[in-house]
Amino acid sequence: MEYKDWEKMALEIGFSYAAHLNCDTIELRQEVRDMCGANTCGMYGKNLACPPACGTLEECRRALEGHREGIIVQTVGEIEDSLDFEGMQEAEALHKKHFYEMAEKLRKICPQVLPLGCGCCTVCKTCAGPEGNCRFPEKRISSLEAFGIVVSDLCKSNGIGYYYGPQKIAYTSCYVL
Ligand code: SF4
Repeated sequence: MEYKDWEKMALEIGFSYAAHLNCDTIELRQEVRDMCGANTCGMYGKNLACPPACGTLEECRRALEGHREGIIVQTVGEIEDSLDFEGMQEAEALHKKHFYEMAEKLRKICPQVLPLGCGCCTVCKTCAGPEGNCRFPEKRISSLEAFGIVVSDLCKSNGIGYYYGPQKIAYTSCYVL
C-alpha cells in the first residue's frame, strides 16, 4: 500500500483530514513527558499506555526506529465556544472510534504499524493499570504526548492545520508505518 491508499482509507473511515507523515520530523521531547508528570489529566501512573508504564523516552525512540513514514489523521469538530465540553467530548469520541477502526485495519495489512493517538488508551472500559498487566498489549495505544511529541509541531512540519478557529476543535493522531 502507498500513502494515497492510506489517505483514502482514512477519509472513507470518516476523518476530516489526513496528511503524509515524514518520520524525520518526529521529535521526542522530555518537556512533554514532564507535562505528563504534572498529571493534569489524572492518568499518569494509572493508564498502562501512559508514562511511566509506556516506557522511557529512550524506549519510545527505539520503538520508532526504522519507521520512515506514516499518516497523520485529524477530526475537526464544531463547538459553541471554549467552554463547550460536551462538543469537545463528542468530537474526541468520534475521533477515537475512527482511530481504533483504522488501527485494526492497518494492523492486518502492516503488522509493524505503531498507532499514536490522543488521550489515554481506552481499549478497555477501565485500564488494568497501574498494578495489573495490560489485557490487550497488541491493541494498546499510547498518545503522541506520551511519546514526548508536540502535536502542533508535528502538524506544522507535515503541512496539516492544527488550529481552525474558536468554534472548531481538532483531535490529531498518527500511524507510523
Ligand atoms: S489495552 Fe486495556 S489494559 Fe491495556 S493499556 Fe489499554 S486500557 Fe489499559
